[in-house]
Formats: sequence, C-alpha cells, structure tokens
Amino acid sequence: MPDSADSFAPSGTRSAHIPTLEDLEGALGSLDGQRILVRTDFNVPLEREGDTTRITDDFRIRAALPTIQWLVDRGAQVVTASHLGRPKGSPDPKYSMDAVRARLAELAPGVELLENLRYDPGEEGNDDAFARKLVAGIDGYVNDAFGASHRAHASIVGPPRYVPSAAGRQLQHEVEVLLVMRTKPARPFVAVLGGAKVSDKLGVIGALLDTVDALAIGGAMCFTFLAAQGNSIGASLFEPDQVETCRQLLANASKPIHLPSDIVGLDAAGNVQTFGPRLPDGAKGLDIGPGTAAEFGDVVMDSRTVFWNGPMGMFEDPRFAAGTKTVARAMADTKAFTVVGGGDSAAALAEFGLADDVDWVSTGGGASLELLELGDLPGLAALRVGAARG
Ligand code: AMP
Repeated sequence: MPDSADSFAPSGTRSAHIPTLEDLEGALGSLDGQRILVRTDFNVPLEREGDTTRITDDFRIRAALPTIQWLVDRGAQVVTASHLGRPKGSPDPKYSMDAVRARLAELAPGVELLENLRYDPGEEGNDDAFARKLVAGIDGYVNDAFGASHRAHASIVGPPRYVPSAAGRQLQHEVEVLLVMRTKPARPFVAVLGGAKVSDKLGVIGALLDTVDALAIGGAMCFTFLAAQGNSIGASLFEPDQVETCRQLLANASKPIHLPSDIVGLDAAGNVQTFGPRLPDGAKGLDIGPGTAAEFGDVVMDSRTVFWNGPMGMFEDPRFAAGTKTVARAMADTKAFTVVGGGDSAAALAEFGLADDVDWVSTGGGASLELLELGDLPGLAALRVGAARG
C-alpha cells in the first residue's frame, strides 16, 4: 500500500471531513436500539433458470458485512436498502430482492432488506418525498454503496438532509484508496483501460493524463484511438463521433499512451487471426495481440501503482481472453500497489482465480472512474453537507 490517507479526507481534494461510523455513534449518543438505514450496493449478478434465481457472485453483499456487523455489535437495528438491475420505476418480479434477502439472511441474520429501491420512480428521480419516506422511523443513515454514490439518487443524497449520517466502511475504504491513488500515488503510476465504450471513459482519460505516468489502452475502446491515428480498423467496434476527441488527446498528451501494436480477432471469413495495428476490411478486433499483452504486462510489472479498468478484449469468449488474462496475471504478480476498478475487470479477475492477488478490487466501476476523474461524488458531497448542517 502507499501511505494511507491521513484522514478520511486527504488534502488536495475537495473533501472536507466525511463522517465515519464513529462520528455517527457520537452524534446519536448510543446506537443501542436505534434503527439505522444502510444504503448498500447489492446490485449483484444474477442467473435465472425457470423460476429460480441464483446469485453468481455475492462479493457486493460480503463487502457490506463489516459495516453491518459493526452496527449490529452496538445494538443497532439494521435496515438495508439497495437497487438491483433496472426495473424502470415500477415493481418487476425479475428484479425482486428475494434472492439477495435469502443470501443476506445467511450472512447477517436478523438484518432487514427493503424491496428494490428502483421499484419507485422517486429513487432515480431523486424525489425528496421518496427520501423522506425512506427515513420515516429511522434514527440514522449510513451510505455503504460506493458503486451507486456517483448517482444523485434519492437514497444516496436524500437521507443526510434529515438524519445523522455517515459513510460505511466499504465506502470509506474505497474513497481512501482511490483518493490516495489520485493525489499521491507511488510512481511510476500506470492506468490500464479497456472495455467497450470509449465515450464513457474519455473524461477520466483526460483527467488521468494529469496524474499517471503512462496509460495503456486495450479493449474495444482502442479502435477509436487506432482510427484516430489513421489506422484501418475493419469491422471492429468503434465510436466515429469520438475519433476527433481521441486524436486531440493523443496529440496533446504529455505522457506515453500505449496502444496495441497487434490485435487478435476474426477475419472476414470468421477465422481467428492475429493482425498488426491495421485491420483488413471485414476483420473484427476482439482482443489485444500477444505482443501487446506482453508489453502491457511489462508496463504493469515495472510500475509502483496500477489502476486497471475494463477487459482487454471480449474475454467472455475463451478465444479472446488471452490479453485480459495476461494483464490480470501481471496485476497479480507485480509488486506495485494494484487497484481494479469494478465491473467486468473484477469479474475477469475472479474468473481467473486472481481476485485475492491484487491489493484492492473496487465494488464500483463507474464510481471509481468518476472519483478518479473529479475527486468527489454526489454521495460524498451529501454526507459532507449533512455533517455541516449538524
Ligand atoms: P465496459 O462495460 O465498457 O467495461 O465493457 C466491457 C465489455 O467490453 C465486455 O463485455 C467485453 O466483452 C467487451 N469488449 C472488450 N473488448 C472488446 C472488443 N474488442 N470487441 C467487442 N467487445 C469487447
């Protein structure tokens, strides 16, 4: 680990003190018998077969246990609440919390779980009436949903207006790790970015270029950059309206941006092939090539801090998993402080059995990118404002 944050609000960020669980206990006097609403991120991956729903990875439920246990140990009655999937503002049995509730009952017996917050349009609409409904009969609020804290939704930003509030342990640790990385990383600091959509990540790429010593870009998003360099990209995924922005980023970057020098994909006849950085007509790039994977692996091995977000290829298909696997292996083997930012890269790491070999796996992909980009999140701002109000 690099230096840990001096406090929950490292200097150089906009974060004034964000209240912790200890602050909440102080504000309420005692937690014994108090009803505490904990906003968790139980948006877990599900697999449905007929009428049965199975949780394929309970990582996010387990991540909330330290906070829940801390509150339970002090006699609090814990009520958890989360969103799950995208039910579009009305009840939809497909997104019922039943499977999560059953798993939570095994891990933390006696802890309540409300129904899917997104069954109510007031959640995503940030409706104050819905926030007030959530805190009715509640004595204190804890946000432990890092993965949802970049959204100004009612359950994230509303409760601190009404009841004493704090960050849970998961949220606190996520923010500490990412803000230390943003403000005082051990150098060299490299970010490895992949995944499908470059438009989602352009803001963070721009911001990261101020902080990192080098960037490595793979995944489908590399093709928009390769196109910006004038390479033919065949039938690969790319975002034509982002080519100019990528061209400017490449032209103005004062740090090295590593782009693939070889690509694995399908040729026009559907055969797996390794290409150079220029793809023939009809060919589709679906993974970084072996030379690029080795280069990115070396960059990771030679760094002292690494942030990785987004798979290097369509790793769900074993024919295109090698690049992601090489990066994951380097993340596990390097002596650098390693952080994996959520979503698909975390799933890939888990699939390769390497999740325990990195320093930090963030529970939030979008939230970790936004925190690295802006140094703040709506959910954190709400907790600070709540604390200032007293
Ligand atoms: P994201 O949600 O933006 O992190 O994108 C993750 C998804 O990108 C994964 O499901 C990958 O299969 C997909 N992906 C990565 N590289 C490629 C590629 N070259 N072509 C198509 N899909 C890709």
